[in-house]
Amino acid sequence: MCVKRCIYCNTDIDLSESDVIPDALTNARVTNKCVCRIKHNNNFSDLFESKVINALALITNELDIKSSKGSDYAAYPAMVKIAGTEYETTMRTETDLFNGRVIKSVDKKHLLTSFDKAISMAKDESKVEAIDVNNIEVEKKVTIGLDIYFDQAMYRLVAKIAYEWYCAKNKVSGYHGDFKNIVTFITEGHGENPVGIVWNKDVYNLMSNQLNMGSHCLLAFQDHEDKINIIVNLFGIVIYRVVVCDHTPEFCANNLLYQELCTDSSRKEIIQTSPEALEREYVEYLSSTEHFTPVPLPNGMKCMIPNGIPSIDILQQMFICNVVNFFKKVHDEIKEPNKEIVGILRNNIEEIMQSSLFHKKSIKRFVKECFKDRTEPIKINPNTTNKKVVFLLYILFVIGNGEIDEINDQRLQQIIKNAFHIDGNNEIIITDELVAQLKEAMLKQENYSNIIEKGAAVIQHWE
Ligand SMILES: [Zn+2]
Repeated sequence: MCVKRCIYCNTDIDLSESDVIPDALTNARVTNKCVCRIKHNNNFSDLFESKVINALALITNELDIKSSKGSDYAAYPAMVKIAGTEYETTMRTETDLFNGRVIKSVDKKHLLTSFDKAISMAKDESKVEAIDVNNIEVEKKVTIGLDIYFDQAMYRLVAKIAYEWYCAKNKVSGYHGDFKNIVTFITEGHGENPVGIVWNKDVYNLMSNQLNMGSHCLLAFQDHEDKINIIVNLFGIVIYRVVVCDHTPEFCANNLLYQELCTDSSRKEIIQTSPEALEREYVEYLSSTEHFTPVPLPNGMKCMIPNGIPSIDILQQMFICNVVNFFKKVHDEIKEPNKEIVGILRNNIEEIMQSSLFHKKSIKRFVKECFKDRTEPIKINPNTTNKKVVFLLYILFVIGNGEIDEINDQRLQQIIKNAFHIDGNNEIIITDELVAQLKEAMLKQENYSNIIEKGAAVIQHWE
């Protein structure tokens, strides 16, 4: 058993477990145990990780990703309009606005806080105006900045992810000169930037068809010149290509690596020597008579029926080979934004904001935040245009209406599908018309508050 050493500085003193992708950016941890604690783990946080984590707070918040160390979701800056007055604040959720903290309006003429606190601060009750939080419209404006995706901090973080992951999967211990360029770039921020942004729309489509919403995906392979390339797809929003090494190190045998890290903390992984080896594996599987039984058809032909659930994920392996072939052909990454990539990023972020509602975590979080300290029945504001709130209330309404005592993932998906008349993998795009319809359907029922609360209770008991 050889001694573990840091892959950045070769020390064997005070090694730690580094999160390959920072804990605050994923619910599925992957670690590298050959990283020294202070200089090459903790210090990276100040050098480049924090900047990226803060800039992506809105995304992680939408995807219900939070650091296992921190107790709450990351807060993001927002402009909110409440009862006609604008406030600039940072928030994690809308209930955050009414939790009693003091928020000053943009024109500095109003303060927003709890009623009791307002009275004691104003010392004059006539200066305090009460607003009914159940019946007001909160208009929220958030700015989605794209600069971070082209920022030096992001490039260093992506290089770190690629390097630590490749080393972990090849059980690399200690520093090796083969990785000099990328190590200098990560630790010092200079040298040749090994990271570029992929801006080919086809590859974004190819990957988003296969990956789960909001997943991270990592893929390592050798290009035509035997350089080690790593594809880093973050949240399905942005794809980077990293050259970890300009040749294949002789001590690294696993040069076809694949990992998908999902927001529900599940993961998929493949470790192989090369794409050819992976291809051989599934072709052999498909051609073996062990796994299939020939069934004669009336027309004289034979049909091969699988003997059970395949032990390998054939579609996934084919997908990986396709992606590798694509990246071997197309190699035109950029470092600065252009019109195409800006369009792609905007599109992908919008999609996440719309479709992040379909998961157990988000609906459980909504119920927790919305029904925690509720003493009065829930009221729907007929004027609200908050799509997320209306959508989630409607799901609770359907559950409460359906006499369902117990819920699971499959049932939730079924309820969503039935409620919106969709089938297969079709995604629901929540439009203003749809929101108006859902609102009307609920308000029509006199006892809708009770129904929604019944639905919320079912979700609360979902383990
Ligand atoms: Zn070190």
